[in-house]
Amino acid sequence: MFDSESKYYAHYIGLHKSISSSTKKILILGGGFGGITALKEIEKNFQKESVEITIVSDKNSFLFTPMLPQVASGLLHASNITIPIRYFCKKAKYLHASIDSVDLDNQLVTIERSFDHKVRTLEYDYLILALGAQTNFFHNEDLKKHSFTIKSIEDAIAIKNHIIVMLEHAAQTGNYELQRTLLTFVVVGAGFAGVETISEINQFVKKSVSKSYPSINPKNINMILISSKDRILPEINEKLSEKATIFLEKSGVTIMKNTKADGADEENVMLSNGGKLSCATLIWTGGTKMDKVISDLNCEHDANKRIIVDQSLRMKNKKNVFVLGDCALIKDESADTFYPSTAQHAIREGKLVAENLMLVFNNRKNLKKFTFHSLGIMAIIGNKVGIATIGGRNISGFSAWLLWRMYYLSKIPSFGKKLKISVDWFTDSILAPDVTHIGLIKKKEVNSIHVNENIPSIKEQLLSNS
Ligand SMILES: Cc1cc2nc3c(=O)[nH]c(=O)nc-3n(C[C@H](O)[C@H](O)[C@H](O)COP(=O)(O)OP(=O)(O)OC[C@H]3O[C@@H](n4cnc5c(N)ncnc54)[C@H](O)[C@@H]3O)c2cc1C
Repeated sequence: MFDSESKYYAHYIGLHKSISSSTKKILILGGGFGGITALKEIEKNFQKESVEITIVSDKNSFLFTPMLPQVASGLLHASNITIPIRYFCKKAKYLHASIDSVDLDNQLVTIERSFDHKVRTLEYDYLILALGAQTNFFHNEDLKKHSFTIKSIEDAIAIKNHIIVMLEHAAQTGNYELQRTLLTFVVVGAGFAGVETISEINQFVKKSVSKSYPSINPKNINMILISSKDRILPEINEKLSEKATIFLEKSGVTIMKNTKADGADEENVMLSNGGKLSCATLIWTGGTKMDKVISDLNCEHDANKRIIVDQSLRMKNKKNVFVLGDCALIKDESADTFYPSTAQHAIREGKLVAENLMLVFNNRKNLKKFTFHSLGIMAIIGNKVGIATIGGRNISGFSAWLLWRMYYLSKIPSFGKKLKISVDWFTDSILAPDVTHIGLIKKKEVNSIHVNENIPSIKEQLLSNS
């Protein structure tokens, strides 16, 4: 009758649901920019109310993505840009699990515990969906298999380790073609993530080679950025985009415009113009898609499967479901367009969702509308060089770089991590890059532990062995 364990549990919980509980259940899905902001604000606003707050995310920490390229280049330590979700949970409960499905009709969410993959169903009175977006390879399995992504902390660590291995291999060969392939780094996608990633890798590889790899010929290093559009950074105005192009090219990055990557193998990336590039490192930032939980939901979606919400950030026809961040499509009525998917917007949306949730909780009809005009856009494109548009004004060079660092440092939601990042930045400015290779990390599976009620206590076990 039930084709999966999760559907059975959902059915069971649905039948035995506590109808009259006065404690309302608020369930937040996703521990990124949107989810964490909503959680912090709800905890602040709902101190006296009788509510049970739960946040579920498949990663146990919040990740500060704007600094991810700096982890890929070893400039920052990985744990300095992540903050355990539990640190934000003053009243809330955190569950480390992946979300399987959402049943909007019965107000149930099915999750899978990461430890032993057991499924469990959670009830909610109010639901907040903030599951972000995932990397999209557009069904190209070869690109997926042969490229790195830059979306999670594991991705950034993997890229850094791989670059160091390529440098070590290249240092041991006198073969020109082999060294060139090992030292060719290709990034596909010229949005912020792609541009900042190539810029960080460019600095890391060149600095490392000059300080630690005397046998490598720097002329064999190739940094290539592939853009499907006729320019890079489509998020900013053309003038600034042109400035960024000139700077990147001067610092040794080759930019291929109007080009797509349409295939890959272990040592090549195939291009839409019929050409191919020999490279041992391919990083894909070429597109995003929605998590299956979002795309499978029975509600209104756009062509990219984002959920269309009303101005109060509620799902249409569901008064108790809010959607925000990269998985929501929000109309900017003042400009007759849609708000972009950025961390800046997800944070603002999180604040509004918490405010509106309080209004819904108090049975108020008129909710607040989301309006936000971006403070500006910034990117780092080289050593002490950035670009920014602030209040319609273009800034580039050192001042934009400094502004980037000051702004994003101020947004790190932990004083301790702010301090650690500042130390990393300082040490990077005076020391050679760290080219320590972290080898494979052994993993011990603990998902098949059989619990037996008759197991003696540890004390008894120790005594029986002595
Ligand atoms: C490399 C990079 C650089 C960026 N730089 C900038 C920048 O400089 N400025 C800027 O404004 N924006 C930047 N962004 C974009 C920004 O990160 C996103 O817009 C923002 O994170 C969106 O917030 P969110 O809460 O919607 O999603 P996210 O922050 O992605 O959070 C989603 C959360 O949901 C969890 N999740 C997803 N699916 C499941 C599931 N099935 N089960 C359980 N948990 C799940 C994820 O693990 C994650 O914790 C960058 C993004 C990247 C990748």
